[in-house]
Amino acid sequence: MKIKSVRARVFEWKGKTVPPQGNFCSNAMDMLYAPQETMSTFRFHGWTVVEIETDTGVVGLGNVALAPRIAKAIVDQYLAPLVIGQDPWDYEYLSQRMYRATHAWGRKGVGMAAISAVDLAIWDILGKSVGKPVFKLLGGRTKEKIPCYYSKLYRTDLKAMQAEAKTFLDQGFRAFKMRFGYGPKHGQQGVVENLKSVEAVREVIGYDNDLMLECYMGWNVEYAKRILPKLERFEPRWLEEPVIADDIDGYAELNALTSIPISGGEHEFTLYGFKQLLDRKAVSVVQYDTNRVGGITMAHKINALCEAYSVPVIPHAGQMHNYHLTMSTLASPMSEYFPMFDVEVGNELFYYIFDGEPVAKDGFLDLDDNVPGLGLTLKTQYLNQFDIIE
Ligand SMILES: [Mg+2]
Repeated sequence: MKIKSVRARVFEWKGKTVPPQGNFCSNAMDMLYAPQETMSTFRFHGWTVVEIETDTGVVGLGNVALAPRIAKAIVDQYLAPLVIGQDPWDYEYLSQRMYRATHAWGRKGVGMAAISAVDLAIWDILGKSVGKPVFKLLGGRTKEKIPCYYSKLYRTDLKAMQAEAKTFLDQGFRAFKMRFGYGPKHGQQGVVENLKSVEAVREVIGYDNDLMLECYMGWNVEYAKRILPKLERFEPRWLEEPVIADDIDGYAELNALTSIPISGGEHEFTLYGFKQLLDRKAVSVVQYDTNRVGGITMAHKINALCEAYSVPVIPHAGQMHNYHLTMSTLASPMSEYFPMFDVEVGNELFYYIFDGEPVAKDGFLDLDDNVPGLGLTLKTQYLNQFDIIE
């Protein structure tokens, strides 16, 4: 079996979107002085879809959601020529070939994201060519079902947040992640607002369910040191990305500061990036995303690394490419889960582009032993609501 063609397309959403609300989530732009921009950079309304076809007629699907037009250009210009004519079963060789050939400018960010999309399509081909789901090629089923946590709870009106938490508690979720709306520039009033929001959600979900807290890189170390001790009484399971991804010493300092585990990794790349985080004890929960980190070939190695360091892997964003890794390793106790909503930040877009994404029931989801590959197909229902760039 040889790879015959590689096709990368960008799907840009032009349908209805839910407008951003005030301080719905802190983010890295908050430190700057143009507040109107901070939310506009926090939107992901495009996706790159990669289709790889073999000379035996198998088509594999991969995807990437970081800087989609740039990812497409990288696949078209640099990666496609490296894999066309090659045997997809040589996936380790192909992963190394893409990583090393782009090393001068790739390594982190969109270069690795583009490689991830190609690698995902390759694994989809492997599964389809032997009639097995990808998780069966990675070690198989390590859990009966995958527990998943409800991930949304953007900072809005506290009553609205409580109603949202109640709705999904009633649907059987036992773990919830909420977003902070305020950071350093909001001063002590923002600290008070952040604490109020955690208290409000805890009031609804109680202390026999898990609560996770998300900063999306919107704080700095000084601010985090001020607020972390005040958050301990709410017993969060983790606090996510308090500072920008490059401040590894900051992560390490905060991770050692209180009883609250610090999590991160959705903006980290490759085996080496995660080795650095683990060696420095910067995070207590690893949250790579398979469609950024280098694909399944790379994520599988990171799983082994985390197992050896006894650090749990709970990938960013859920989605099929991550679920196969979570199902096949004991190092991964659960998944993030974004339910399908109207298009807002853009995490929901996955459901509008692909069919096959599992739907959580009573806080768990499952993968089908009989669906080969990653289990995704392109959806036709919303096609007319995308601009598609060939
Ligand atoms: Mg996150």
